[in-house]
Amino acid sequence: MAEAEQVRSKLGKTYPKSEVVAMQPTYIAELRQLSKNKCCAECGARDVSWCTLKSARFVCVNCAQKLRADAANKLKACSGTSYLWFDDEMQLMREANK
Ligand SMILES: [Zn+2]
Repeated sequence: MAEAEQVRSKLGKTYPKSEVVAMQPTYIAELRQLSKNKCCAECGARDVSWCTLKSARFVCVNCAQKLRADAANKLKACSGTSYLWFDDEMQLMREANK
């Protein structure tokens, strides 16, 4: 039997892909909840749709564009299907945005 496919979070942990994929709807719903009433950590804009894992804060799409030039910011969209969210990343966002 082939080994289950592993995927790596931006924080460097590896997880079985099927497990991570199964959790996405839960994580996205939780991120939506966490970002509620939050403003962009960079410019204060009301519409936050991205996260920077460097500071575990929510940012707006405009600031995300600027921040993504530096890979150290570890940007991820809070919704949609272009990024997989991982357990360790979720823990980080939860802790910083209680
Ligand atoms: Zn902003």
